[in-house]
Amino acid sequence: MKKVLALILALTFCIACFAACTGNTTNETTTAAGEETTVADAVYGDTKFDTIKVGTGGTTGTYYAFATASLQAITTDAYGFEVVSTGGSQANIEGIEDGDYHFATVQNDVMNYAYKGVNGFTAPITSFSAVACIYPEVVQLVATASSGIKTVADLQGKMVGIGDTGSGTYYNAIQIIEAAGLDIENDLKTTAASFSDAAAGLKDGSLDAAFVTAGTPTTAITELATSTDVVIVDLGEDVINALVEEYPFYTLYEVTDADYTFVEETVKTVAIMATYVVTNEMSEDQVYEITKNLWENEDVKTCHAKGAQMDINTTLNGIGDVPLHPGAEKYYIEAGILEGDAAEETTAEDAAEETTAEEAAEETTVEEAAEETTAEETTAEEAAEETTAE
Ligand code: GLU
Repeated sequence: MKKVLALILALTFCIACFAACTGNTTNETTTAAGEETTVADAVYGDTKFDTIKVGTGGTTGTYYAFATASLQAITTDAYGFEVVSTGGSQANIEGIEDGDYHFATVQNDVMNYAYKGVNGFTAPITSFSAVACIYPEVVQLVATASSGIKTVADLQGKMVGIGDTGSGTYYNAIQIIEAAGLDIENDLKTTAASFSDAAAGLKDGSLDAAFVTAGTPTTAITELATSTDVVIVDLGEDVINALVEEYPFYTLYEVTDADYTFVEETVKTVAIMATYVVTNEMSEDQVYEITKNLWENEDVKTCHAKGAQMDINTTLNGIGDVPLHPGAEKYYIEAGILEGDAAEETTAEDAAEETTAEEAAEETTVEEAAEETTAEETTAEEAAEETTAE
């Protein structure tokens, strides 16, 4: 009997070892909602693109302006970038999957939903990988002063823009409305609206409020405020806590007059991270060169206000389960941001565990960072403070 037991134990051990050794064919991950999903490992191509098509957002958002400026700064004789205006994060990820874009800016929350095929994505999309988290994007609920909206609950019965079709803003809008206990179907009237359309709607009175998730100051809001009295609505502690608890990519963000001159009192809201992603078709060498230039070309820091918020020591904290492209990974290892055997570090999360940077050692993932979110300290806020200081 003992022998049989020993044999069973030995066999179980072998199977476990085998599973561990072959574990790089799929990744079992647990979603924020606790669901188990299995995501196939990425297959990387070897294409060197001459013209890299870049999915961004609307022309009055921050993606479009920042991508135009930062990618212009790192254009070389060998390749250039064609920046395309799009609906936003979801459209960009789907565009990479369809081969329409080779590079894109996306929200880190939405890219993780896409990678796992959850929260509105019906199946995992794994044809992209991460290059760098760039700057915090602030979830802004903008309302006209005349609407009287002061809390999320005040959206009841109002006309509200919830982001463009294919945007990441849409996800934040839905999650915030639900976190406030409102029924999106029955309690308010929602409309898909790009930032430009939302600004026009707020100006002409066809909208009372609109969600805008973008780096601040967002052109659409700054321009609107020149002609219309608007406020950024404080989400309130209860909504913020509910959001951070359920969706770990959110961090607290305080909007001040450093973001917009019309903001008189500090407004509490949440932020996620704008992230550069790339098609897995792009060669390791080309992604390596792009990543290196992004971090080492001084013009990237000064080409746009958001360039100053880029921080290589925390750039991997928000990547979550989306793998780093091997070309980007190679650069981070060389730069001393990641340590260890590149072959074994298939996800930013694995890699971050072995990061030497002190910040990353403390807050290796956004999930962990979010758990540690307090009113005083968040990565997004720290980044923002650093910018305002300049
Ligand atoms: N984060 C937004 C989205 O994906 C776009 C932001 C921008 O255009 O700056 O919906």
